[in-house]
Amino acid sequence: MKYIDAFRDGALARKISARITAEVNPDREYYLMEFCGGHTHAISRYGIADLLPDSVHMIHGPGCPVCVLPMGRLENMIQLARMPGVILCSYGDLLRIPTANGHSLLKMKAQGADIRMIYSSAEALKIAQQNPQNQVIFLAIGFETTTPPSADVIKQAQALGLTNFTVFCNHVLTPSAISHILQSPEIRELGLVRLDGFIGPAHVSTIIGSAPYEYFAEEFQKPVVIAGFEPLDVMQAILMLIRQLNNNRAEVENEFTRAVLPFGNIKAQMLVAEVFELRRSFEWRGLGVVPYSALRIKSNFADFDAEQRFELPSLSIADNKACECGAILRGVKHPRDCTIFGTACTPENPIGSCMVSSEGACAAYFRYGRFREANNHCNNSHTVNL
Ligand code: SF4
Repeated sequence: MKYIDAFRDGALARKISARITAEVNPDREYYLMEFCGGHTHAISRYGIADLLPDSVHMIHGPGCPVCVLPMGRLENMIQLARMPGVILCSYGDLLRIPTANGHSLLKMKAQGADIRMIYSSAEALKIAQQNPQNQVIFLAIGFETTTPPSADVIKQAQALGLTNFTVFCNHVLTPSAISHILQSPEIRELGLVRLDGFIGPAHVSTIIGSAPYEYFAEEFQKPVVIAGFEPLDVMQAILMLIRQLNNNRAEVENEFTRAVLPFGNIKAQMLVAEVFELRRSFEWRGLGVVPYSALRIKSNFADFDAEQRFELPSLSIADNKACECGAILRGVKHPRDCTIFGTACTPENPIGSCMVSSEGACAAYFRYGRFREANNHCNNSHTVNL
């Protein structure tokens, strides 16, 4: 805990806050997007917005894997849960996402479907080994961080000769989503979000490294600072972004040097490349169809691909009309812009996906934001707003 506390020191946070205030240009506004849901959660939990001058605006991005799963893929999961003899293995948050007609995997489980909550892909493989009479399907979701463990279990299942184990692959890629936010045609429809720079993801970058972000810095002239998830990491990254913008620089900088290398984890990248390949396009909730933004299982591992074994149809299903998740995931709107925020839609009864996971913008804002607004001051405790 000592190591973590060093990154939550309230006195240091206030020092960085004072530096940010001193260095912001009084003639301009700063619009910074934290792509990653982990950062969104940290910003809300530690009250980081309260430590920033009014001219620094934090915009939440689409980096929550549960939030960006489109309704069609969720409906596919419900279809799988309905199949006789199937054991569905899923991470907890996934179970709570509501479908368009009010279903969820959790409700399916309550109605008798064999859906098991797991904490790792290895658990799903074990369940398959222990239940040879059942088809065991692992619901794989997430960004580059969770992809190597999925690749690993597919390889293991092949080595073990398992015939009752498949993976429903929904892995998505961060750089493609950032590109799409900056240049997609839907910007005309949903409105243009002003973005001056990005806080780059922490865990994702441990896998892919810092090099893949250089494209954004050069092509779109947007600085990127990769940051860890602790409050001081985020504050320092904001200061680094402001310094770049004040100096008209657009570079990739790495605040999270304790975990991120320029070219990432090559071993993990090779494992992923062995098992997965790019999909031509994939639908994201909030971003629509994004070219080359997701992975599918390669043909030499087709026996372990749930999409192929169970011939799942490609479905595109619209969000609930009242829900603003799409605009929130794109950074165009804030959770408070949704008329059902905190009333019909709460973490206990989510209507949209952004209210499900603690990394979702609405859930983070609900859990911490309203409390902070009612007590809008910096406290004097040792740690930041804890
Ligand atoms: S409050 Fe609920 S319905 Fe509204 S945008 Fe957030 S998650 Fe979607």
